Amino acid sequence: MSNVNQWDLSADDWDELNFPRPIKQGFDRVVKAAISRRGVLGGVLAFGSGAAVMGTGLLKGSTAMAQQTSRFAFEQLAPQTDGTVHVPAGYNWHTLVRWGDPLFSDAPAFDAVTGVPTTGSDRVFGENTDGMELFNLGNTELLVVNSEYVNTRINLPDGQDGKAISADDIVRLQNFQGVSVMEVTETADGWKVVVDSPYNRRIHHRSPMTIDGPAAAGFKRYGVSTKVDPGRYNYHGFDARFDLSNNPNEPHRAGYIVEIDPWNPDSTPVKHTALGRFKHENAACALALDGRVVVYMGDDERGEYIYKWVSRDVYVPGGDTATLLSEGQLFVARFNDDGTGIWLALTPEDTGMTKAEIAIFTRMAGTAVSATTMDRPEWVAVNPTAVEAYCCLTNNVQRGATNDDESFRTNAAGEPMITNAPNPRNMNRYGQIVRWRPHGDEHAAPTFDWDLYVMAGNPTVHGKGPYAGTANINAGNLFNSPDGMHSDTTGLLWIQTDGNDGNDGDFVGMGNNQMLAGDPVTGEIRRFLTGPKGAEVTGLTWSADKRTMFVGIQHPDRPFPDGEHSLPRSSIIVVKCDDNALIG
Ligand code: CA
Ligand code: CA
Repeated sequence: MSNVNQWDLSADDWDELNFPRPIKQGFDRVVKAAISRRGVLGGVLAFGSGAAVMGTGLLKGSTAMAQQTSRFAFEQLAPQTDGTVHVPAGYNWHTLVRWGDPLFSDAPAFDAVTGVPTTGSDRVFGENTDGMELFNLGNTELLVVNSEYVNTRINLPDGQDGKAISADDIVRLQNFQGVSVMEVTETADGWKVVVDSPYNRRIHHRSPMTIDGPAAAGFKRYGVSTKVDPGRYNYHGFDARFDLSNNPNEPHRAGYIVEIDPWNPDSTPVKHTALGRFKHENAACALALDGRVVVYMGDDERGEYIYKWVSRDVYVPGGDTATLLSEGQLFVARFNDDGTGIWLALTPEDTGMTKAEIAIFTRMAGTAVSATTMDRPEWVAVNPTAVEAYCCLTNNVQRGATNDDESFRTNAAGEPMITNAPNPRNMNRYGQIVRWRPHGDEHAAPTFDWDLYVMAGNPTVHGKGPYAGTANINAGNLFNSPDGMHSDTTGLLWIQTDGNDGNDGDFVGMGNNQMLAGDPVTGEIRRFLTGPKGAEVTGLTWSADKRTMFVGIQHPDRPFPDGEHSLPRSSIIVVKCDDNALIG
């Protein structure tokens, strides 16, 4: 980051700024650790382009980089550094909806200079588009989108230096976050939001919710500040609910998986505490052989864990699913150096904590059973064509080599973030994607095999070695910081990035943040889309007919999408093949 300004940062950058850590490098140590695991990680454990593939791999059909015919129907896009979106030849894109666009006809008009006033700020599409899903019933398609956080310098009135100075400002910020439910339809002029659809809905900080599951308090590990300063949002300055001196339990009510019924706009969202409390990134669902629901989840924080939850009850197609996520067992992952792993049950017996404590202080429960510290687990994707799942480990520049090296840091539990098999690099600025295959082809199984599908890197800069990345990284498909991720119906793995887009130094040749397609079988990865300068690419879903792809563009710089004279606006774009062919 250059010219770092707290108010213009992404959520990740803000984290980095607020938790600065001294860093130093220890390449040799990493190389030795990686090579000592020769043969463990399957075919992709080969550093640098052209390096020989090492080992046979424990995972059948593991990435082998064999010279197979590519499954990709598009030509790889070159890296880009400008202020707009690019897709390959034969594809097209347009903007569907931007921050501040109306979901209802009584919403205030967006002003290119001042944005959206507080009154009516809960009637527009939210800020910082992130995860999304499309729900379809008959001919109706609903796009449901999370608004991850706010950019106070953009969202608040000009001249306030990005600071909330009134209760009115707080309401505005709260309204721009949460979830937007909106009907979308394809017209002769392309996809549109159906303004005033009875399904349209905004869920924000003040939307009533039900809390279910085991739950009831220490929030140091969760990064909650009690300092009396403006902070990023300064909610506690103007909203008693967020004043911890009066309301110390408020933080314990946030950080859960929330279930929303998009088909019933009057329904009350439910916070499912059974699925634990942490910095949930997404919830990727699979079914056990007997119909129980298996939910994989990452905790997007340095040195935190990957979780799995298995429902008590079974999913019955067409049946009532209202309480399916209310009762079940939470597990946390330990990745062994030998390429196997185990899901450790978070029970009172194993953790010494009550069920309620496990639900609220889930990270501490994970520590109690010695889960594996990971390099910031972001999105999990479940492959619908094979019994396997993937998790983006976006980066961790504080991952260090030794227990006693003070220059490297611990996670918030005080566990040293020393390198381990799935997180093998010191000062990991590029990120990797870990893959696991449950034993017995059963997502509910307690054990699994794992490998690294890819370690991002830069062979152009580093030649060989761990920072060059795995063999499926080459000068043509460079990227860093995998974050968003989805498997499509054909099993292709779509990878979205939220990283350094400076295109220089360690990141030269990577360009702007981007979306790539990965073939789980051959390991091939190819760049499909690039975002505008400053943006991360996050959130992906498909129309019911799989001929349209919806892609999120978060926190772009000017001029995206409306030109140099408008505030920049997070947006959802649609991408199609020119001939309207299937796209996922
Ligand atoms: Ca993310
Ligand atoms: Ca991220």
